[in-house]
Amino acid sequence: MAQRSTADGLMQSTAEAETLGRASEHKESHESNASDDVKIDAVEILGDWLSQMELTDEKYLRAAPAFRVVECGGRILKQKSRADFAHSTAVKQINKFISHSWQASARSKYMALLVFYNGKAAVVMGFLVAAATMIFFMFDFLPGFMSYAEGGPERKYLGPWCISLGTLMFLLILLFRRPRDLIFLDRLCINQYDEREKSLGVLSLGACLKHSKKIMILWDETFCHRLWCIFELAAFLKTHENTELLAQPLDLTDFLVWKFILNTLVYGGGLVVPYSTNLSDNMFPVLIFIFATCAQCWLVTRIFVCFSQGSEAIQKQLSGFTFAGAQCYCCCANHQTPDGKDIPCDRRVMQQCIQHWFGSVEEFEKVVQTRAKDAFKKHLGGHFCPFWWLAASEIPVLWQQMDVAASRLYERDAHGAIGRIVLGLSVQLLTGPTVFATIILLLRWKPCRGLPLKLLAMALCLCLVFGIHTLFRALFQSLGELSGSLIFAGSFLLPTIILWHVSAYKS
Ligand SMILES: [Zn+2]
Repeated sequence: MAQRSTADGLMQSTAEAETLGRASEHKESHESNASDDVKIDAVEILGDWLSQMELTDEKYLRAAPAFRVVECGGRILKQKSRADFAHSTAVKQINKFISHSWQASARSKYMALLVFYNGKAAVVMGFLVAAATMIFFMFDFLPGFMSYAEGGPERKYLGPWCISLGTLMFLLILLFRRPRDLIFLDRLCINQYDEREKSLGVLSLGACLKHSKKIMILWDETFCHRLWCIFELAAFLKTHENTELLAQPLDLTDFLVWKFILNTLVYGGGLVVPYSTNLSDNMFPVLIFIFATCAQCWLVTRIFVCFSQGSEAIQKQLSGFTFAGAQCYCCCANHQTPDGKDIPCDRRVMQQCIQHWFGSVEEFEKVVQTRAKDAFKKHLGGHFCPFWWLAASEIPVLWQQMDVAASRLYERDAHGAIGRIVLGLSVQLLTGPTVFATIILLLRWKPCRGLPLKLLAMALCLCLVFGIHTLFRALFQSLGELSGSLIFAGSFLLPTIILWHVSAYKS
């Protein structure tokens, strides 16, 4: 459970709470011949209760609609409020149990949930709006201006409508759609302002996991080190033999979101800042273009480095997972409150549960190292970045080319329009993933480290971007937009498939 302080506090408060009484009754039913003079060990009772995965009361199986977490800019992930608990209700089953570490960035978790719940709808709606806009521009319902049309040989009548309205619709859906999926989030489903209720809620955690259809792990580097996160993972693995784990690594969402923002700025800028490839004709815009491309490649390199480090960390942490590596507040505080009272040890409680469920801690470690890792890979793919998520982050290039296609349709040049759509799709689905796979391979190969590696990756990124631009311009000039784009797409198909396959993690 993610509310570490809650959980650690629980061990303190349960000592007096009715909870312990209930847990101890439960234990006595198992060990009726326990000697009276043996002092009941609170840790053993708690461990025994938690490992049975039973509810302390039916009302503690709770869930709330997912929009409660993403409304108001993800306020609930940043600060708690007395009103939070009232948003959840008692349910018979939970759709998704949200497992996360409170040490991870609240902004990243908010973004991860937005992308998970609203990302697909935002991309589809953005695309539909861009397509409708293209038709409107074709029939002259929207104004335009004379521009070089993204490096075209001559000025054309053009408007940046698909990319701007597509992006606007994308953002509106991403930020304001209200997903109603029933989720368990500790802050919503455990009363944080009543110690007794809080303890009973925490003791029902195992049951909540047992009654959850899926678990969604908001993964960051601290996840594997938080004892309660490990407990949640263990309880879910124990009760769901063949269920997929949903993992949303926070580094991945940050990467995709930044990539989308950069793409929107770069491709939108490519439309509104007119430039020509002819230096003598148009020196100033060419310099802007070169500067913008270098800045873009530097930023792209930075987000690539963060993503690559993050995905390597997932790989390493899952492969080398140990229970001993997890930390908890009680052990760090030497099992004493600031005013000198004893705190029972969470680690011992968890260990008891894990031994009960998996036979031994070593067996559990093996399950995480194999089953959890495989489940992550199944959900995220060998790159820890699904192909379609990457393609979605490249959609601004398609919207930009839809604007150029609208300009061609305005001139009743259907071949040019189809050529531009094919070019947009080729960059989104082929050259984008090619650049991704190549840079990821370089970063994983690590011919050097630190700044030199970043500069090398940036140089590679620049070469690829300029190479791709030069290739499609040459093809367009010699073959025309339709044939040129088809040859362009055809020439990248095989290299993209090979590079995508080669750059995936194999083990
Ligand atoms: Zn401890």
